[in-house]
Amino acid sequence: MSIRVDTDLLLELKDYGDGEMESCFNCGNCTAICPYTSAEYPFPRNMIRLIQVGAKDKLKQSLDPWLCYYCGDCSETCPRGAEPGEVMMSLRRWLTAQYDWTGLARKFYTSKAWEFGAIVLLGLFVAIGVLLISGPAVTDHVELNTFAPAEIVHIADWIMAGMLVFFITTNVLRMHKFIMRDGIEQKIPLKLYFTEAWQLILHFATQKRWAQCDEGKKTKVGNTHWITHLLLVSGYVLMLVLIMFFLKWFQTDEIYPIWHPQRWLGYYATIVLVFGAGSALWGRFKKSSQLHRFSHASDWIFPVLLLAVSITGILIHTFRYLGLPLATYYIYIIHLAFAAPMLILEVPFGKWSHLYYRPLAIYFQAIKAKAQQEQITLAPVPVSSN
Ligand code: SF4
Ligand code: SF4
Repeated sequence: MSIRVDTDLLLELKDYGDGEMESCFNCGNCTAICPYTSAEYPFPRNMIRLIQVGAKDKLKQSLDPWLCYYCGDCSETCPRGAEPGEVMMSLRRWLTAQYDWTGLARKFYTSKAWEFGAIVLLGLFVAIGVLLISGPAVTDHVELNTFAPAEIVHIADWIMAGMLVFFITTNVLRMHKFIMRDGIEQKIPLKLYFTEAWQLILHFATQKRWAQCDEGKKTKVGNTHWITHLLLVSGYVLMLVLIMFFLKWFQTDEIYPIWHPQRWLGYYATIVLVFGAGSALWGRFKKSSQLHRFSHASDWIFPVLLLAVSITGILIHTFRYLGLPLATYYIYIIHLAFAAPMLILEVPFGKWSHLYYRPLAIYFQAIKAKAQQEQITLAPVPVSSN
């Protein structure tokens, strides 16, 4: 098989992060120290070598960058200051752009004007759209469901969900093509996609490999970065379920008593979202850990949007309880103007896509390993001529 060499690859990757891959002299220290590496996936050294020789197709077909959890051990021990941990992070961003057929992920990762412009435009579009289709604004008391009827918001939510599913599915199919079809010679039996599906569910729900990482303060259950991330995802998923399936129950004008589950589910989701987004921003601001030492614009945008959505959500709740109608309606519009770009732009094209690409890579890794095992078991034993 011929390998196409791209001499601009190293420069191209510089747009995706702060790695110094040109300084690497391939000593292999990083791979020796990495707690996640294996004989089959000897990253990060193999990835840096592929970048240096411009093997773009080989990089597109590799799942190694998704197996790295940015513990940073390799960067600490690299004698050349090549920042291999950051190179792996850049590769994850670059791969996200390669999987995305629309080209938007590449635009967002490589141009702040594109990323901020798209967020502002979509936010304005949503705000103007809500103002145009909103019902009458009752001003003597709060009637959010007259101003923004839950039935109409629900339809808009499902249109948005349809768009998300379309972009995510088509990008995931491209990821599958690169990793599982291009460049691998072994035949993958279809049944393995079903028998190994539990790996996808388990790793999507828990990201449990991250718990083994030493980065972050160690606790009995795992490192603090992983626990924070897990809490954040639980709040995010809970809020998504409430909005997608129970909006009429969640967005009410009736004020429920304090013990009501509607209030406590909302409070739990809001608290963990504020805590998760706030600690991600604080960590990046302080640069106190390897994970937060380098920050790309995309690392800030998602937690900033998430924090804005959570804070405007708290304000809607507060203004409703204080009986301030106009303040409630205006902040509701601002809330939707932050929520739409956070979901439509960040989930399929931005950092949040890592949430499904990483478990998918682990799933593909498991399928490949099983296929290899089956091939060895089924291979005919050579018969001796004696
Ligand atoms: S990145 Fe650093 S530690 Fe890794 S192979 Fe290159 S020089 Fe060695
Ligand atoms: S950052 Fe950690 S997990 Fe990633 S390659 Fe380096 S040592 Fe391995």
